Amino acid sequence: MRILLTIAELRAARAELLQRDATATLGLVPTMGALHEGHLSLIRAAKKRCRFVAVSIFVNPLQFGPSEDFSRYPRTFDEDCTLLLQEGVDLVFAPAAEEMVPANATTFIEVGGIGDRLDGRSRPGHFRGVTTIVGKLFHVIAPHAAFFGQKDAAQVAVLRAMVRDLNFDLELVVCPTVRESDGLALSSRNRYLSAEERTQALALFRALRSVASLSAEEKDAKVLQEHLRSCLEIAEGLRVDYAEVVHPRTLEAITTTNGGALVAAAVWVGKTRLIDNILLPLGNTP
Ligand code: AMP
Repeated sequence: MRILLTIAELRAARAELLQRDATATLGLVPTMGALHEGHLSLIRAAKKRCRFVAVSIFVNPLQFGPSEDFSRYPRTFDEDCTLLLQEGVDLVFAPAAEEMVPANATTFIEVGGIGDRLDGRSRPGHFRGVTTIVGKLFHVIAPHAAFFGQKDAAQVAVLRAMVRDLNFDLELVVCPTVRESDGLALSSRNRYLSAEERTQALALFRALRSVASLSAEEKDAKVLQEHLRSCLEIAEGLRVDYAEVVHPRTLEAITTTNGGALVAAAVWVGKTRLIDNILLPLGNTP
C-alpha cells in the first residue's frame, strides 16, 4: 500500500499501477477518515469490482460552515492506515489542505437546484465544497468507478448530477447504509455522542422505520412527511433540522410515493448533527 501526500505523487503512483496492466480498473473511495465499517463496506465493494483501489482521506475544509465542527472532526490517520492495509487497498491519498485548496484558487463546482436542497439548504455552501473537492479527486485520480454510501443520500443525488453534467467518465456506485445492530447508522460523528445521546439518537432510525411501515398503506408523501416529523419531534433529546419525503434523484417534493421516494432526516442530538434515510422502492412495498 502506498501513501501519497501530493497530487504529483498520486499521479505518478496511478500511472505506475495501471502501466502494469492496461486493462486494469481503478476504484476510488473518497473519505474524510476516522474510518468505520461503513467506509470499509465501500472499500470491499470497490475491491470486488476493480483491480486496484484508491482511498482518499481528506477532511475537506470547504464543506464545513464557519460554525461547524471542522477543527474538532476526528482525525485518526494511523489507525485508518492500519485498517486500509488490512483491506488490501493499493493507494491512499492524504493531501494537506493547501494541496487540494490552494490559497489562490478561485474555481469551484456548484450543482444548482439539487445542491440547495436537504443538507444543501441547512448547510449553505456545503455541497459546493463537496463537489469542488470530489470533482478534483475525480480529475486527478481518474478512477473507473467511485464508491459512495447511501447514508449521504443528498450527496449521492448531487454527485450524480455533477457526473452527468460534467461528463466524468466513471461509474458512480452507491452502497447500502451500514448500521449498528440496533439500527443506528454508522458515522464518524457518532463518537461525539454521550451514552445518553447515543440512546436518544436511535429515535432517528425508529422514525424512518415507522414511515416505512406506514408507507405500505399510505402513499401520500405529505402525510408520510408529517408522520416522520412528528415521530422525530416527540422523541426526547432530538431537534429536527429537516424531515422530508422527496424524489430520490432530484430531491424535489413529490405528491405520491408510488414512483419511489427518499425519506430523509437530519437531527441534532445535543451538539451533534446526524443524518439518515431510507428509500421507498418503486411500487412502494417496503
Ligand atoms: P465521510 O468520511 O463521512 O465523508 O464518508 C465517506 C463515504 O463513506 C461517503 O460516501 C459516505 O456516504 C460513506 N459512509 C459513511 N457512513 C456510512 C455508512 N454508515 N454506511 C455506508 N456508507 C457510509
